[in-house]
Amino acid sequence: MTNCKLCKSGNVRHLNDIEDISYKGNILAVSMEYSVCDDCQREFVSKQQILNNDARVRDAKKKADGLLTSSEIHEARITLGLTQESASLVFGGGKNAFSKYERAEVSQSVAMDKLIRICLKHSNVFNELLDNAGLPVRKDRFYEDSVIQYKKLTAANQERFKSVKSIQLMKDECYA
Ligand SMILES: [Zn+2]
Repeated sequence: MTNCKLCKSGNVRHLNDIEDISYKGNILAVSMEYSVCDDCQREFVSKQQILNNDARVRDAKKKADGLLTSSEIHEARITLGLTQESASLVFGGGKNAFSKYERAEVSQSVAMDKLIRICLKHSNVFNELLDNAGLPVRKDRFYEDSVIQYKKLTAANQERFKSVKSIQLMKDECYA
C-alpha cells in the first residue's frame, strides 16, 4: 500500500483508466493504473503502477505485432511442461528470459516467438530441442500430431495424397 507523498495519508485509492496509445498507425486502448489521495486529492502513479502500466503497454504492442502476449507465453510454457529455467535452456535467450517475458518486462524476438509456436505444433521439433538442452524427451503426445494436422490441409484431402498416406500407414503397421 502506497502512502501519499504529499500529505502522508494512507487514504489512497487505486484506479484504472483506459488510455489510447498510438502505435504504428493504430490506436491501442490500454488500461492504466493510477492513485488518488482522498485527503489532499493528489493524483499520482506509484513505482509499482508504472511497472504494471509498462507491462500492459508492452503486451498491447506485442498483440498488435502478432506476437504471443506474456500470459500466452506462460500458457505455452506450461503446455510444454517446462519450468522457466528449463524453457530458457531449451529456447535460449538467457537464464531469466522466460520470467521476463511472462512479466512482460521484455518482449521476445520474432524468432523466439516462431520457435515457441512451432514447438507447440510439432513434438518432434520440441523433442530435438529438449535433447539438445540435455533434458529428457517427451514420449507422450501432448498435442495433436502430424497425421491429424495433415488431414486438415486442403491438398492432403485430394485422392492422390490420401492413397499415398494410406499406403504409408499400412507399411508402418506391417513393420510395427
Ligand atoms: Zn495526500
